[in-house]
Amino acid sequence: MTPAGPVLDRVRMTAEIAADDRFDVVVVGGGITGAGTFRDLALQGLRVLLVEAGDFASGASGALSRVAHGGFRYLERGDIGLVRDAVRERDRLVAAAPHAVRPIRVVIPLTSRFGGLLAAPLRFFRLASGRGLPGVAPMALGVALYGALSGGSGALPGGGAAAGTAARRRFPYLGRRFAGAVWTHEGRIEAPERIAVELIEEGVAAGGRAAALNYCRLVAVEHGRLVLEDRLAGRSFRAAAEVVVNAAGAHADRVAGLFGIEQRMTGGVAGAHLILEAGTLAARLGDDLLFFEDGAADPAKRRLCVLYRLGGDRLLLGTTETRCDAPEAADVGEADRTYLLAALAGLFPDEASGARVVGHMVGVRPLVHSDEADLAHRSRDHAVFRHRPGGLPLVTIVGGKWTTFRKMAEDAADAALDALGRSRRVSTADRAIGGGANFRDRRDGIEADLIGLGLPPDLARRLTATYGTRAPRVARYVAAKGGAAPLSDDGRLTRGEVRFFATEEMATSAEDVVRRRSDQFFRAARLDTVTARVAAELGVKGGPAS
Ligand SMILES: Cc1cc2nc3c(=O)[nH]c(=O)nc-3n(C[C@H](O)[C@H](O)[C@H](O)COP(=O)(O)OP(=O)(O)OC[C@H]3O[C@@H](n4cnc5c(N)ncnc54)[C@H](O)[C@@H]3O)c2cc1C
Repeated sequence: MTPAGPVLDRVRMTAEIAADDRFDVVVVGGGITGAGTFRDLALQGLRVLLVEAGDFASGASGALSRVAHGGFRYLERGDIGLVRDAVRERDRLVAAAPHAVRPIRVVIPLTSRFGGLLAAPLRFFRLASGRGLPGVAPMALGVALYGALSGGSGALPGGGAAAGTAARRRFPYLGRRFAGAVWTHEGRIEAPERIAVELIEEGVAAGGRAAALNYCRLVAVEHGRLVLEDRLAGRSFRAAAEVVVNAAGAHADRVAGLFGIEQRMTGGVAGAHLILEAGTLAARLGDDLLFFEDGAADPAKRRLCVLYRLGGDRLLLGTTETRCDAPEAADVGEADRTYLLAALAGLFPDEASGARVVGHMVGVRPLVHSDEADLAHRSRDHAVFRHRPGGLPLVTIVGGKWTTFRKMAEDAADAALDALGRSRRVSTADRAIGGGANFRDRRDGIEADLIGLGLPPDLARRLTATYGTRAPRVARYVAAKGGAAPLSDDGRLTRGEVRFFATEEMATSAEDVVRRRSDQFFRAARLDTVTARVAAELGVKGGPAS
């Protein structure tokens, strides 16, 4: 906490907006793209307002597979530039947020050794299309190329390939039908929603009287002024902007429509994940993440699914790809469940039947609009569109991946700066994120300090691992009277943390806390009970220990 009080103080920010409602830039959408763009522009010294219709990162940015990856599978299509940029951003992210993004070994099981030796290069040079994973030999070349694209950054360990018994020794969970496997390392984004909040906090703290409101929706544009609905206060207000950045994800076309722009810029593709409880499978898999082909009879129709252990007995299994033109209606249906569980059964026939579905989530990828019918083949690149409705510059950013948010934000911010006639003062390329700042150097010292505050060593370790160099701020709430009392059976959520989220991170509902500020949605054995306890706690006022 800064001496002046929490940075993300809704009351103060709302009063500042009421006193002066003119902004250099208004960013619409508080997913990872909007959060990154907001931070970037605020760091340039601009007065920026971010409005998010729901909670921060409650759209696609909280429904992803949670992997920071370069897109190994896009290599096969020869998208070298896209993969190189994504690998670079992945490596930057691992360095910038070591408290929230950790290395994970990604294993791709393969059913043949030499299959696709001819077809894979043809696809690489775009001389052939189709799908189906090639064999170990061509995939090994792909892994080598993928590793080379990181330019020796050393952010993550490299990869390799193994066949036959060597593969089964290395990956004991592989069934006999697999001829081998290749592996790479990617980043596991443990807390994507928390990273969004940390970016937003940094933007507000940047000093340019920037403000950010969750539960605040752009509902109309009247005479060039934005009509914003504060859903918590139940009132509307107006704001003026020199430039508007539309980072509304799958809703981007609709937001552009409020400005009178009728252009198809994005095409949503919904994706579902299941949260499974499967102790034996979780134990067999260990810390590996599997990218595996579903069992579709036609190899040309096979897709890659993802499976890894979230922690304890819990696993994340995803994902589907369904065209989606109404993002607010996206849901996980019976067909999604059946498809994902069948894919799992193809990989682990024995263990799959014992897996229990304990949760699910769905999100809509805001891909750049395309006429490509094969959803898996739609580009994952991003695009910036510029319009000037009624003379007001409107910058729309769509596409990309969570992994590449920083670059997307930079491109959107550059377009906004250009419209303002301003130049960039600060680069975000090597900038740490929130609790990632100096984390590697200070980790041991912080843990010791927390123990010095009287916290049990296990709790001190968890708080440090979760919040990085922001942990001492959280610890002051946890060390306050009653703050260390656990609200969850696994002890991974305390009263003090809930008070911190409510006071310093703009969490207003139990869902904000269990789903986006903590990992309870994925880990809690009794989610309903934890949610009820959090709801009760949110009604209690409580500050940090002084
Ligand atoms: C199933 C699935 C798996 C994925 N897995 C990965 C992965 O492992 N790795 C990876 O890198 N990427 C992954 N992605 C892609 C990634 O999640 C998205 O590219 C990214 O989160 C998009 O972020 P965004 O901020 O652009 O959009 P969103 O997160 O959707 O944010 C847009 C926001 O705009 C808000 N909004 C809309 N209208 C208004 C309005 N009128 N006023 C105010 N706010 C408004 C919405 O509420 C929303 O929160 C995955 C996506 C899906 C769906």
